[in-house]
Amino acid sequence: MRAFAHRLRQVSASATLQVAAEAERLRRAGVRVVDFSAGEPDFPTPPHVKAAGRAAIDADFTRYTVAPGIPELREAVCARYRDDYGVEFAPSEVLITAGGKQALFNTSLALFDPGDEVITHAPYWPTIPEQVKLAGATPVIVATRPEDGFAVHAAAMIDAITPRTKAIIINSPCNPTGALADESAVAAIADAAAARGLWTIADLCYEQLIYEDVGHNLPRVLFARNRERTVLAGSASKAYAMTGWRCGWTIAPPDLTVAFSVIQGQSTSNVTSITQKAALAALAGPQDAVASMRHEYRARRENIHAWLVAHPGIRCVRPRGAFYLFPDISRLLSPELPTSAAFAQALITQESVVVTPGEAFGAPGYIRISYATSMEQLREGADRILRFAGALQPTAAASPE
Ligand code: PMP
Repeated sequence: MRAFAHRLRQVSASATLQVAAEAERLRRAGVRVVDFSAGEPDFPTPPHVKAAGRAAIDADFTRYTVAPGIPELREAVCARYRDDYGVEFAPSEVLITAGGKQALFNTSLALFDPGDEVITHAPYWPTIPEQVKLAGATPVIVATRPEDGFAVHAAAMIDAITPRTKAIIINSPCNPTGALADESAVAAIADAAAARGLWTIADLCYEQLIYEDVGHNLPRVLFARNRERTVLAGSASKAYAMTGWRCGWTIAPPDLTVAFSVIQGQSTSNVTSITQKAALAALAGPQDAVASMRHEYRARRENIHAWLVAHPGIRCVRPRGAFYLFPDISRLLSPELPTSAAFAQALITQESVVVTPGEAFGAPGYIRISYATSMEQLREGADRILRFAGALQPTAAASPE
């Protein structure tokens, strides 16, 4: 067998992309698929953002840019966080990346060595531990539980610290649970990190998609307590329906930002010049499109949650952010359908509904449903799932206790 690099032996392919490929295969075969696997907004990119992209092409803004991103976009990131969170940082602390994914990847490559441990919470977005592994380090996973809405508990995260720990990664709003990390928990984690010289990394890619009126000023909390060792990863993808444009950013101390720039300069160079102009329009322009998408997601969340929990075999935390529902379907499992992966497969085969099995997120027994799709599709898909579930025997619910 031809040998690939050792680092690839540790890393898995993206399960979410695999499910999406299965949905695409069915669609091509002419099946009326209801696809709840999408990890991206169904809305079009706002018109003024598209116009800025077109104008960049027409103005021949189509050459390399400097690796860390055009100065006005780095400044626009500063201005957006100043407006949204009241935090101050300089453009030299911002690096423009090809999505939040590259923001986090640069972070892993710049900070982690083989032998390092990096703590994060489960259920997790799979890329987080896989990128840690790609850097040769070891992810240390702390479970969160549905009983308290998948809350990140500071004590549990801090208990996982060992002399090898290098960083703690928090994803809030969380993909796949939709949970928000409480400011007080993040404060306690940041204090513990600061006392030990550890990095705190916050994946804030869904920061604009929060449906409850709760404080979620993680930038302020982290800057107040661990300013020297904090990385914020942000993205235009979800907030502005710009997944295909590929634009995100890191906010990190200037010396680390220079290190990111070195990595990027030797790998992808700059983010697409056209995208940078479009992202500038997104961040610096009117934010009403963000508010109206958020409004629509909130309405979808209410409905899909209410429809599904009507079934006694389905338990589901009400998500507070992002655009996913993460129901526990373990009561519907049986010797014939032993895992959530088997459940998801049967759901595709029998009802042509595509969901992502919890195994992908380190959480067997769950499925992830993306509600970044129309209300009609949500109703149709919910009906099909309820019909499918109705034909199964809810195990625990049927038991006498
Ligand atoms: N973080 C989380 C938790 C995500 O779910 C995603 C996308 N699925 C990202 C980061 C990165 O998205 P992008 O690279 O498009 O910004």
